[in-house]
Amino acid sequence: MAEPEVEVRRSKRRKQTVSAYRDGEKVVVLIPARMSRAEEKRWVADMLSRLERSETRRRSPARESDAALAARCAQLSAEYLDARAVPDVVRWVAPMRTRWASCTPAERSIRVSRRLQDVPGWVLDYVLVHELAHLLVPGHGPRFWKWVQRYPRMDRAIGYLEGLSAAASLGLDLADDTEPDEPDEEGAGD
Ligand SMILES: [Zn+2]
Repeated sequence: MAEPEVEVRRSKRRKQTVSAYRDGEKVVVLIPARMSRAEEKRWVADMLSRLERSETRRRSPARESDAALAARCAQLSAEYLDARAVPDVVRWVAPMRTRWASCTPAERSIRVSRRLQDVPGWVLDYVLVHELAHLLVPGHGPRFWKWVQRYPRMDRAIGYLEGLSAAASLGLDLADDTEPDEPDEEGAGD
């Protein structure tokens, strides 16, 4: 997983506080002007991991309803797809066995598995950009990925979903390894 580009800004007005925020693909870390290089290094690492944790907890407002999902699609289309991807129907559907989401370009419709209601917002955004891009290019050829790559965290989102999928099927394998069914003795993970 690639580290994000970091820009450190020193401020004379800052005495103690350090803060960080994401600006596109870059992370900006604000530190007091007098901080030493060693402290700077430590704080940057600390702020990156804090930012990562808080973003991983943050769910998308799109999880609330089909209308919220459609609104998010409109925003993402405007931001990454030149507002060219305009679906007629976007909705949440019951978890699908093999798919996170699907798109039917002929009907201009997008269905998103409710499994994705609990992933971080930036992961759901990737899936939406992916499905929206299918309204422009149906298959998974280079022209398709050229659109999707405009979403800055594409690689990380793909990695996240692969991990989630692997974890889920590993869980299923373990759940099936005893006969007859026994109560699950493992502590709940979360
Ligand atoms: Zn696809």
